[in-house]
Amino acid sequence: ARRSEDTGVAVIGLGRFGCHLANSLARLDHEVLAVDRDPERVQRWSGELDRVVQADATEEAVLRQLGMADFPRVVVAIGASVEASVLTVLALTELGVPQIWARATSEKHAKILHSVGAHHVVFPEAETGERVAHLIVSRMLDFIEFGDDFAIAKIRVPPPLVGRSLRDLAPQDRYGVMVVGAKQPGQPFRYAGPETVLEPESVLIVEGSIAQVQRFAALA
Ligand code: ADP
Repeated sequence: ARRSEDTGVAVIGLGRFGCHLANSLARLDHEVLAVDRDPERVQRWSGELDRVVQADATEEAVLRQLGMADFPRVVVAIGASVEASVLTVLALTELGVPQIWARATSEKHAKILHSVGAHHVVFPEAETGERVAHLIVSRMLDFIEFGDDFAIAKIRVPPPLVGRSLRDLAPQDRYGVMVVGAKQPGQPFRYAGPETVLEPESVLIVEGSIAQVQRFAALA
């Protein structure tokens, strides 16, 4: 139980979302307890994840028996069945799990999850849709919004800025964005500094408000 207290994460529901999540956590060196009520899903993942258990997660007693109360973080990745998702979050709330993450499949589902005690709600379809929309219509290679109107983007150098150094360009004064990293052709990403020169093939990591980052990425 000691390791669970430090790094353990329980993932409930091994559908398309839950299995990617569980695998990513395992790759990040976290001890994962995966739970699904479907024996075929359990069988499918038991070779790849440390601990995969077949159980109905809507039952508080079952969760208690699995030691779920000792986990600092539990993720409810069930999507299609709103009822199972909500009942599972409720049971985890009653067990007093400190950090309950839950996946929503609609705005209403998200509201219900919050009201039954989820501390964090993620809505992958909406979040990914929004992110991909930004990628499609701009020169951005990646875009992450953090809320409170703050975003970080990975972008190709806007053509008018090629050949300039950051000292000379002063992007923070001129565009309100901070260029924090740069990858020059054939090299790894490095922290950007005043001496960084923007090459035609450079890739930049830029942060600022959403509108400022978008405007900077769209300079032509
Ligand atoms: P996705 O869209 O990610 O594929 P689904 O909602 O289709 O997600 O899959 C959710 C998973 O959660 C399925 O593998 C299903 O067997 C599992 N699941 C559903 N209800 C329960 C429950 N009460 N207890 C445990 N696992 C459940």
